Parts: sequence; structure tokens; C-alpha cells
Amino acid sequence: MRDEIQNLLRKIPSMDELLSRPWVNEVEELLGRKALKSVFADVIGELRLALREGACEAIDVAAIEQEARARLLAKASPSLHPVINATGIVIHTNLGRSVLPQEALEAVRLSSERYSTLEYRLDVGERGERNDHVEWLLSQVTGADAALVVNNNAAAVLLCLAALAKDKESVVSRGELVEIGGSFRIPDVMAFAGTRMVEVGTTNRTHLSDYAKAVTESTALLLKVHPSNYRIVGFHAEVEREALSALAREKELIFLEDLGSGVVADLAASGLGAETTVAQSLMAGVDLVTFSGDKLLGGPQIGVVAGRRQLIDRLRRFPLLRALRVDKMTLAALEAVLRLYLRGQEGAIPTVAMLTLSQDDLKRRADALASVIATQCPEADVDVIPVEDAVGGGAYPEQPLQGWGVALALPGVSSGTLQRRLRLGKPAVVAAAEKDRVVFHVRTLLEGDVDLLAKALGARDEEGGSGCGS
Ligand SMILES: *Cc1c(COP(=O)(O)O)cnc(C)c1O
Repeated sequence: MRDEIQNLLRKIPSMDELLSRPWVNEVEELLGRKALKSVFADVIGELRLALREGACEAIDVAAIEQEARARLLAKASPSLHPVINATGIVIHTNLGRSVLPQEALEAVRLSSERYSTLEYRLDVGERGERNDHVEWLLSQVTGADAALVVNNNAAAVLLCLAALAKDKESVVSRGELVEIGGSFRIPDVMAFAGTRMVEVGTTNRTHLSDYAKAVTESTALLLKVHPSNYRIVGFHAEVEREALSALAREKELIFLEDLGSGVVADLAASGLGAETTVAQSLMAGVDLVTFSGDKLLGGPQIGVVAGRRQLIDRLRRFPLLRALRVDKMTLAALEAVLRLYLRGQEGAIPTVAMLTLSQDDLKRRADALASVIATQCPEADVDVIPVEDAVGGGAYPEQPLQGWGVALALPGVSSGTLQRRLRLGKPAVVAAAEKDRVVFHVRTLLEGDVDLLAKALGARDEEGGSGCGS
């Protein structure tokens, strides 16, 4: 037995043998010799282990080489790369949430290919504040006196709680102690910020008197949280912002709201019901509102705290801020997006545009896609169908968006198999499925995606295509 294993171990190709293969030069150019050798070492090491453990009974040199080569080619191509989103979920967190408008991309390039005024005031030749580039614009767009930008909304909530309520009590309704996808849990954030959580009311009903009774000498803050991806329906009561604001003023407390998505545009054209905008929340008496930049705002990943200047100034002086600050590329993108709002050109922001597409536009797109697919895949069964899209990002959880899509069935191929082929194709396509059909939702397709999708479907497997015919 031992001899047999020794025999097999000797048959494993050596590092030098692998390095001498003709195809290696091409990969070495992409990865460098050191990385190349480490991948070979991994493959050889795993094989040795498998032999010793009896998990492998023969050595196939060609298969080993093929495995090593496949791993190297995968490592040689960019890991973070574009995807066609045919899910109809507009703010798809796993696919990068909001797509940036051209104006923002240009601003990112300009801000990062040269030195910039990031923290420099040209008028006096002295240090400036990076937040200054966007604060006035945020005030214009939200109606806030002052605003501060940090890494994301989770950071914004953490900063507010730590700077304003550490070692004190924060009162929050039991109906708003939510977990947002990706492990953002209100009780955990409060604990981490060092504020004592005082829960009031019940899961489904909380009254003003519940808040009022909970306030003590140690209370610093009333917290309201947008429940985002979940809703309480039926026998339910929550307290109006105006009433909470009056209580906060009477007891000299800070009223903080985590608004989550943070709508600033008029999304009436989307047919979606009214979602409280940042301006409405502030007007109702909330002192500080926090929201994300890459959800309904349609910008880069940031978090905003907007509201009363005196409180924002306290946040500016809090040391944690330094650990949450945003990069120049992000600030540049945010500034460009805010300027589009200022000029009333929010239609140029892809997230806003996708949410406000008309039924006619969507249907026309679906018809166009269907005819391209039918040409590309003559043996396929192609149908234009009404579908339900979604806002995503925790906004409007119950309200589906009426959309249009193209359903595709290939004889003898399951929808799961076709979805996988599409994901692994070039370009990668993430699509929905319904029974034995793959469904392409057209709302989230970007300019040029129809042609790319057709290409992905038409290409044969070996070209990285999903090969409807092959
Ligand atoms: C999305 C969301 C968060 C987290 O925001 P990020 O920008 O992803 O950090 C926090 N609170 C609410 C209510 C949200 O909807």
C-alpha cells in the first residue's frame, strides 16, 4: 500500500516540469512568476494530500495541468467585473446597488488622476475640509441646515449614537428594533456605540405615552428607525414624527431618525406610494436624519447625517469621524450626483431613471429584446411577459413594481442550467427564473445591454457564451 502511494507521488509532475509547459509564458505575463508558482504549489500540495489520504487513486498529468491552468486563468482575470442585471431589482446590494451617472464617473476620474482641492482652500492657501465640497449641496437637496458625509449609513447611525448618546439612554420602539440585511442590527449598533437601549411599546403598537414614560434623567435621545425590508400590517400603531419631536423638545432630547434609503427626488412617476423624503422628515421636527448614498439617492456608497447645525458640529468634533471618512473618488461622485439634483436633471441618475420608466418604455424594451433573442436562438421558446420588479435596498418591501420581461425556454435545458451558463458567460448575466424558463427583467438593463445579452446568448460555450444552440 505504502509503496503504491510512493509510486503515485513520484508521478506527480514537478514544479519545474509544470513551469516548462509552453502555455505558461502567457499566464506568467499576466500574473508574474511568484504567483504562478504559488498556484502550482497549491495544486501539487493538494494532490499529495489526496494521495496520502486515499482520496485519489491515479495520476492523470493532463488533468492536473488542466486544473492548474484553469485556476491560473481565473486568477488572471479581474475578480470585480461588470454584470448585466436582468433581475429587475433596481437597488441590488449584491450587484453593487446604484449605477453611477456619467457625470459622476468623469468627476471620479478628474479627482483621482491629478492632485485636487480635497482638503485645501485655494483662496487662503490653507487646509480645508473635505466635507465642504458637498455640505451646501446636501443642504439644498434636503433642506437641512448642515450635513456630514461618512462611509455608509451604518457608520452615520453609529457616529450619531456614539457622539450624542454614549453612556446615556436612547429610547426606541420595539417595532423598530430591526435587522437590515448584511448584519446591521439596531440593538447591536446601539450597544457598540455605548448607548443604553431603552425599548418601549410592543412589536406592533407603540404610543407616545410609552416614549414619555421611558424618559429619565439619563435619556439623551429618541431614535426612530425605518423598518426597511419589513412591514407590520394589521393592528399596528406608531407615533407621528411631529409628536415625538414635541416630546424631544419638551424633555430637551435629541430626535434622531435612521431613514435608510433616503428619498430626495420626486418618485411619483414610478407609481410607488409616498415614502417619507429626507426634507419631510426634517420638516416634521426630526433633529438629525441619516440615510445611504447608494440606495434611492442613486449615488456612491456613503452615509449622510443631515439636520441641525449645532448637532452636526458636535459630530464634526468627534474623534470616531476620522475612522469613517470617505475617499476623494467617492466625494467627487457624490458631488456630481447632487449637482444633477440641483439642476433638476435627476433623470440622468440611473437608479431614478429605472424607477420612473413608463410601462410603454418597458414593454418596448422587452419587445426589442425578445426579437433579438429570437434571432439569436431560433430553437428557443421566447415570450414577452409582465413581471414584478422590485426597488430593493430595503425600500418599498411590499410594493412590487409592475414591469416587463422576456421569458426564454430552451428545449432540454433546465432554467437552473441556463441561469448558470448565463452567470458564467461573458459578459456575466444574472437573470430571474420561473419554472423551466429564464426571465430577463428589462427595467434594470442599461444602454447597450440588449446587444451584450444577445452576444452572451449567441456565443458558444467555449467562447464563454451561454450558447443557446451549442
Ligand atoms: C440600508 C439601511 C441601513 C444600512 O445602510 P448602509 O448604507 O448599507 O450602511 C441602515 N438602516 C436602514 C433603515 C437601512 O435601510
